[in-house]
Amino acid sequence: MTGHVAFVGAGPGAADLITVRGAARLAQADVVLFDALTDPALRGLAPRARWIDVGKRGFADSTGQATINALLVRHANEGRVVVRLKGGDPSVFGRLEEELQALAQAGVACEVVPGVTAALAAAAATRRPLTRRGVGRSVSLATAMTREGRLQATRTADTEVFYMAGRQLAALSRRLLAAGWPAATPVCVVSRAGGPDQRESDHTVLDLARAAVLHAGRPTVVTVGAGAVALSAVTDAAMSPTRSYGPATLGRGIGQRLS
Ligand code: SAH
Repeated sequence: MTGHVAFVGAGPGAADLITVRGAARLAQADVVLFDALTDPALRGLAPRARWIDVGKRGFADSTGQATINALLVRHANEGRVVVRLKGGDPSVFGRLEEELQALAQAGVACEVVPGVTAALAAAAATRRPLTRRGVGRSVSLATAMTREGRLQATRTADTEVFYMAGRQLAALSRRLLAAGWPAATPVCVVSRAGGPDQRESDHTVLDLARAAVLHAGRPTVVTVGAGAVALSAVTDAAMSPTRSYGPATLGRGIGQRLS
């Protein structure tokens, strides 16, 4: 009997944001290799599986990646149904290509089940559509960190969502200005988007560094440009299920142009 691997997007941190297909794959799993950012409540969807934490420190470097690849291949070759559970969506900053390549080389069958990526969870939770008629035609999902650990920022889309920049918001602010974003461009910072302890705050490109304390040590996405604009301060106050921080939503209309 041959096993196979399903890469499953766990969503952004609340167990009920996994897809129905993802939950079905978990229910069939013999082994689950999971990352740090996945909700522990997901274990209830695969109670008979062996759960292996590969998200700990030490697994993040290239040796760790090789170990994960080898574990996937071994368990599948031993005939097990393997779920590789990744935070958010597996295809977004999830090092999926390395794991897919390892399985292809070993001749192991696999599938990819998408999930809700952090940028989409942040947009939903703050009720800020990433696209806006007329002013927000394009969205970019970007990482601010290069492979060498340098910080980079661009202005390639009307809405740019930065992953993995939470620790360097002051530097990101400077890079965004250098990339040509006007100082007054709206920026929405959301940490643990989709989770019960989500935090959100409003800024401009110029004062983005002020978000650092509120979001310190938490997974954070930074949305810049058209998709960061609050629809209206009034709607926000009436509908917000979580606490909203910062006064900057006032006076920013949806049709506001950014340059
Ligand atoms: N595959 C994941 C991203 C993994 S990279 C996805 O699709 O969401 C890890 C980065 O994702 C973090 O540094 C942070 O920028 C972002 N992230 C992950 N979960 C998040 C969450 N719940 N809220 C905000 N940002 C999150």
